[in-house]
Amino acid sequence: MPPFLPYGRQLIEDDDIAAVAEVLRSDVLTTGPAVAAFEGDLAAAVGAAHAVACANGTAALHLTALALGLGPGDRVVVPAVTFVATANAARFVGAEVVFADVDPATGLMTPATLAEAMARAGGPVKAAYPVHLNGQTVDIAALAQACPGLALVEDACHALGSRTGAGPTGNGAHSAMTVFSFHPVKTVCMGEGGAVTTNDPTLAALVAKLRGHGISREAGAFRHPDEAFAASGEANPWYYEMQELGFNYRVPDVLCALGRSQLAKLPRFAAARRSLAARYDRLLEPLAPRVRPIAKVPGCEPVLHLYVVKIDFAAAGLSRAEVMTGLRARGIGSQVHYLPVNRQPYYVERYGQQSLPGADAYYAGCLSLPLFPGMAEDDPDRVVEALSEILGP
Ligand SMILES: *Cc1c(COP(=O)(O)O)cnc(C)c1O
Repeated sequence: MPPFLPYGRQLIEDDDIAAVAEVLRSDVLTTGPAVAAFEGDLAAAVGAAHAVACANGTAALHLTALALGLGPGDRVVVPAVTFVATANAARFVGAEVVFADVDPATGLMTPATLAEAMARAGGPVKAAYPVHLNGQTVDIAALAQACPGLALVEDACHALGSRTGAGPTGNGAHSAMTVFSFHPVKTVCMGEGGAVTTNDPTLAALVAKLRGHGISREAGAFRHPDEAFAASGEANPWYYEMQELGFNYRVPDVLCALGRSQLAKLPRFAAARRSLAARYDRLLEPLAPRVRPIAKVPGCEPVLHLYVVKIDFAAAGLSRAEVMTGLRARGIGSQVHYLPVNRQPYYVERYGQQSLPGADAYYAGCLSLPLFPGMAEDDPDRVVEALSEILGP
């Protein structure tokens, strides 16, 4: 039997390993030049003025909530279909989550579902965290236009390399900040890693400060001159100031070297994902209408993080678990992205049962099939054959 195909995995090559080894042999393992170099490359890749790298995508989300000053009493809209971390970021700072429904065909928040969530929120909403699910982009310009004054943070953990008419995801054309993850299943891998991109220099500096305990070493920004400066007017050599309650969310140079080496491969990784997805699209045509690729978003050129199909399990006479087990028996991994977050026990206990029909419909039919740049060109054939065998005539 050919090797097991997981639904996603990293592609690490010899030059990635060499880049990491070089940093390991150097003097600086953290807070060094590889961090700044990675940040510069990421900002350039997504067309943002600033990038701040940090420990992981969850830390990046937390930093954006801190930088926006969100806290107890604030309401934050998050789409129901996402990884739990998007919603948790609001809870980390004591804010309340208002779950927005999504388009059942794409899983994406829309201006209508955002407006509906804001109307239901029971008070003013400070921020929203739209999610570019699977790599397909939310219409961020339309969200910004529909809700002027609302702070928008894009969760682009699925969408590194995706583009629309407004340019690459992360360029901040219509949002305050954008968050990326470099977990091994994501398009670019650091093992653990994340980043915030923004065009706002004040937000960038604040995120960077919060990443490192809220500490500033900039003499020009010191708040307590009596402590900071000697009689000569020179800054005291030992002195730094903790100005905010921050965290240690640094990411080491070792991992930034990996991230930088991987980021240089984004065009190749993106092309591989696109060509595998196109092959799936073609091979799946005979399985319609029981199996269909999820609807394409007009105007979006995605780099898909996940290849998701919608399956009509009732018509197939099989449960999703039966299909997944059948795939696994044939050496093929699959996964479900995601149980709507409002249905997680923590959120049910906090906010009660909620009915979000678009999210429920999206969840009911979705299944993520293997998609990663190290797949063989004809691996989708194997997956689709297995699927048609399991579903039967
Ligand atoms: C992966 C992911 C995160 C969290 O990123 P980590 O690096 O794993 O902390 C957040 N949101 C979405 C949509 C993700 O897919």
